Order: sequence, then C-alpha cells, then structure tokens
Amino acid sequence: MTSLRFLFCWLCVVLVLVTAGCRRTEPAPEPPAEKPAQETAAAVPDAAESDVITLVRGDESSRAVTDAAIALRKTLEAAGLTVDLKTDWYKRGEEMTRYPGEIQVGHTNRPESEELYARMAEAAEPLDCLIRAGEVNSIAATDESIMDAVSLFADEYLRQRTAGREDWEMQRVHEFPRKLLIGGTAYTTAQITAGSSEPEKYAASELRKYLGQVGIWEGDGAAFDLSIDRAVGTDGYVITPGEDGTVTICGGNGRGVIYGVYAFFEQYAGVRYFMPGLETLGEGDIVVDREYALTPIFEMRQSDWQCGNGDVDWCVKNGINQRDIPKKQGGNIKYGGFVHTIAGLTGTSADRQPCFSDPEILEKTIASVRALLASDPSITIVSVSQNDNQNYCTCAKCRAIDAEEGSHMGSLLRFINAVAKDIEDDYPDVIIDTLAYQHTRQAPKITKPRDNVCIRLCSIECCFSHPLNDPDCPENKKFAEDIVEWSKICDRIYVWDYVTDFCYYVQTFPNFHVLRENMRFFAEHGVKGMYPEGNYNSPQSGEFGELRCYLLAKLMMNPMMTEEEYGRHMDEFLRAYYGEGWESVRAYIDWFTEQAKGSHMNIWQPIINVVRKSKLREMVETFDGYWDKAEELAGDRLDAVRRSRLQWECVRLMVDPDEERAAWFLAQIEERQIMWRETSALPTRYALSKSAALWE
Ligand SMILES: [Zn+2]
Ligand SMILES: [Zn+2]
Repeated sequence: MTSLRFLFCWLCVVLVLVTAGCRRTEPAPEPPAEKPAQETAAAVPDAAESDVITLVRGDESSRAVTDAAIALRKTLEAAGLTVDLKTDWYKRGEEMTRYPGEIQVGHTNRPESEELYARMAEAAEPLDCLIRAGEVNSIAATDESIMDAVSLFADEYLRQRTAGREDWEMQRVHEFPRKLLIGGTAYTTAQITAGSSEPEKYAASELRKYLGQVGIWEGDGAAFDLSIDRAVGTDGYVITPGEDGTVTICGGNGRGVIYGVYAFFEQYAGVRYFMPGLETLGEGDIVVDREYALTPIFEMRQSDWQCGNGDVDWCVKNGINQRDIPKKQGGNIKYGGFVHTIAGLTGTSADRQPCFSDPEILEKTIASVRALLASDPSITIVSVSQNDNQNYCTCAKCRAIDAEEGSHMGSLLRFINAVAKDIEDDYPDVIIDTLAYQHTRQAPKITKPRDNVCIRLCSIECCFSHPLNDPDCPENKKFAEDIVEWSKICDRIYVWDYVTDFCYYVQTFPNFHVLRENMRFFAEHGVKGMYPEGNYNSPQSGEFGELRCYLLAKLMMNPMMTEEEYGRHMDEFLRAYYGEGWESVRAYIDWFTEQAKGSHMNIWQPIINVVRKSKLREMVETFDGYWDKAEELAGDRLDAVRRSRLQWECVRLMVDPDEERAAWFLAQIEERQIMWRETSALPTRYALSKSAALWE
C-alpha cells in the first residue's frame, strides 16, 4: 500500500541534457523608439549585468505551478539574485511586455512557453518536463513534475550563470510507475467517453482524476466508456473489460455509475477511500482481468459518524446515499421528516402517542403528508412515526385492535396503511415509513403493511456482544423472532441499529465481531435499508469511531462479505489510520472482543459491567505497552493514535480512579471535541476521585 504522499517518489529521474552550452547569444538589439514593442520585436532587457530575474507564471496557473514558482524564487534569492514574480496577462496579438531576466514557469501565453508545451505534446516519448534557457527562459512541465522541473532548472541555471551565459535545453522522459493491463495488453494512457447526464460527467471527471493519481495519463491507450442502464439495478454497477483495451462501467442509475468508477480503483488498483483526507493509491500494475459487479441489497444506506458523514465526497465514495448529496454526485434518497414525526404532522403533544383510531388524527396526518409532498417533489419517503415514548393510546378502540393483533403495532399499522392508501395513486413512487420500536416492535397478527409502506425496526433493546441470531442471548432471540415475523409480511424493512455506547461514547465498545454478522442477518431477512446509529453528535471520536464508520459503510454496500474480507478491511484501515504500530491496536480490539463474548452488552452500560475489573486490572501494563508502541511507530498518524488511546484512559478511570489522570482526561476530551455521552459534552455530575463509570 502506498500513500498519496509518496506519489512523487515514484517518478524516476531521467535527466537528459539535449544540448548544453552550444550557442552564445548576443543581447537583442534595442527596438526603434517610435515603434511599439510587438511580440516578434519585443525588447529583451539584459539581465546579466543587473542580476534582476523575473519569474512569470500564467494567468491560469494551477496551485502546483504557483508553489513551484515560489520555490524557485526562494532558491534564486538564496543564490543572491533579485527576483520578482509576475503573472502573465499577455494575449496573443496584444502588446507584450518583456521583463528583465524572464523565466516562464509552467504554461503561460508567451510564445516560448506555447512552443515548449506544443513540443511536449508531440514528443515521441511522454515527457515530465522540457526546459529551455537562453535570453528568455521557459520551464514546461506537468503539474506533477513542475516542482522537480524548477529544481532541475535552478541547478543548471545557476551553474551556467557562473560558467558564462549560454543557451541550453533539457528534458525528462516520464517513467510510468504502473501499467493498466487489460486482456493481457499493457497501457499507460487512457481515454474516456461518457453519457451526457450530470452524474455520468461527474463519474468521468472522477475517473480522469484517479487515473492521473495512479499514474495513467490521458491519451489513445485504453478506452473507458461510462453509461447508465436501469437493468443493472438501483445503485448497482457492472465493470467489464473488453477487447482492444476497452473497459465499460455501466451503472443502474447516476449513483451506480459513480460507485462503479470508485469500485474500479478499489478492485483493480488497490485504491482505498478510508477517511476524508486519508486515501491510499495501492501499488503495482492495474490488472483488469475479470468482470466486477455489485448491486447493493440495501437500497438505503446511512452513516452516522461525523468523521465520514461530514464529508459529501467521502459519502459518495463509500456508497452512503442518505444524506444531502448534490444531483451531479448522484443525489440521495430524500426523506420527508425523519423520525418521531406524528406530533408535528398532527399538531398534537409529543409527550404521548395520539389515538391512531381517531379519524380526525388520520385526516390531519394525510393533509400534512400531502402538503409535504406538494412542497418538495424530490421526497421519496415520508416518515409517519410514533413519538419517542411508550404512552400509547388506551381508548377502547385501540385496545380492541391491539388485543386482536397481539401488538400495539396493530392500531398504528392500520393507521399507516390508511395514509399509504390515500396517497398511493397520486404519488406512486413515494413510501410511507414508520417505526417498529419498543411497544410496536412486534409484528401484528392480522394486518400486513401495504406495498408502499416501510417498516423501520429498531434494535435498541438488543445485546451487542452477541450476534442477533445467537439463540442463547435472550434479548437478541426476541428481536430475531420479531424480524423473522416481519420479513414474512413485509418486503421493505429498514433497520435502525445501534453501534456505540450512548452513555459512554469514549469508552471501548467491543462490538466489531457482531457488525458483520448482524449486517448479514439483516440482509438475509428482507431488510432493504440500514441506519446504524453512532455517536452522531460528537465532532470527534475518542474510541474507534472512524474504523466503525468505514467498516459499516463497506458492510452496507456488501453485507454478504466473508469474515476474511471483513478482517482484511479492518487491517487495511488500521494500518493506514494508526501507522506502523497498527498491530498492537488490533491486539487491543481482539482482546476486548474475546472478553465481551462472555457477557451481554447493551448500549448504555460501562465496560466494567461487561469485562470484570480484575481482568482489566491485569491488563494495564500490557495495554499501556500496546498504546505506547502504537504511538512510537505512528509517524504522522500520532494524533490519531493519541485520540483513540483516550478510550483506554476512560476504561482505566473506571477501573482505578485517579484524580490527576481524570483531570487530564477531561481536559483532553474537551479540547478535542469528543463528547462524553449522547446527552452531554462533558460529565455534569461527577467526582474526579470516583470511578468514571459513575460520572454522569
Ligand atoms: Zn385510541
Ligand atoms: Zn447477549
């Protein structure tokens, strides 16, 4: 695996001095005073005597060129020259001002620069840079090579100045670090054709960008074609290598074709999109020797960690489609309201549930849903869901229905079906979504959800040290029974899952072993949408939030992945995120995972209720050693290691209170914007001398 930051190291330096010191150039004659200076007759002020140098960059210079020009100025100034930096506003046919000791950096509109770039484009071998020195100096290079090019130029230029003024030229032939192998033929360049929709164009621009990053240039080599075909399925894609170096990436919709491009680099080039700002490019040849296709089982995929979810590009790269995503990046599934909406829809109290048998409540709800849909045609799913309490209606009607249905879901589902039936003809593509949560979690005996109803089951009471399909875990057994019953009567179940400890965000929460198994379990039971709720309101995670965020995104796209594949994703992430000491972080995770299997674990308890204090006390030296080692080897990932280490500090403070350490820990989480628990950024009732498990 090779990080972005090492990209430049791959570029092999092949320096070819084409001509050196062969010609001495006389100073250009002064133009007649009455004639305005034109392009061909422009005066070239003599810089040799004055030691004044002017660097000229183009009016549309990239950041790389500007950085290179600034670096060159520093080098020349260090050599005792007076250096000015100008932007070239000259347009062909206009009057051109020449500057003393002109050095053109990158592409400018000046004739010398135009000529060098034209020669680079026509060169028999691809060039990183082409440099010419003389009265007017010009440096042409790709953005990737411009920094090297100014450095090559500076060395030679300063040497030649000392030796006497001469004309010379040099070039560097590009060495391709990786090749694209399609059908056994190697290509170093590629061209792209794409459909005309905005997402196809965006997919093409991302394909171009990442081809550049893995070292494949634009040109007549391999040929990529991007298209959309609904037959592939929503959010799906098929990547197919063909004859003569062709690769087709066909998406089932806009998102699908974009996902296909990112998947191409993941599958064949080893590119990884771990976190915003942390991507790796892989290494070795890019061997496209097989078809790769995926159509996600889950139609709705939501992430709930600010580290990833806070970045739209990260969401798109990782298949998240329930968040505001611009249309050109494929757009998103748009909810009307999200959860606990019934009070708002009916203008009733949120402290209890309204009566779902009351025709007036139904009428109000339908009117509100219709108004919502009329106000925003992009809404495809409307939440009509119970308030966040168990104060359900106990009127005679509701009681009778719930008794007959064997669940409080009875009265709610009849109500939801009535709403869904009302809007069905006018809004055939809209889904009505409701929660099966707490008192409504159990499926009713008689009523079935209509086709345009989505049931969102919540696993809030479950145990997360055991998989949901573990028959020996009583809480999970009940949930599994509910989901099995629901899957018999409903084709669109969404799951609201819980993947962190909401009372102790910072402590170690050993649930990695159940994430994959549960996701597969959901996929196998008709689940079509996933919302794994994490520490959504904490700007940073002091635990393994980033790892969990990445793995959950991977699982939502491919819930059927094998344990081996899951382990590989975890190791790849740990290595990239924590640096070379990642194995001791993995050992820490594995120890907690094994220990947690021995107890039940809900989402509100301190870890000392799951793993015995005595066990944890025995491990203090070992875990301090693990984290010390991780810090020692972290390199530029040190801050990530230190932030994640806070979870171990938290666990220690639960086991053995220590006022000094506790004060340090609290200062750390405050400074790093890590929330203590869902409901408070810092503990509000606590004593530093007491176990952190008692802090509230
Ligand atoms: Zn009622
Ligand atoms: Zn359990």
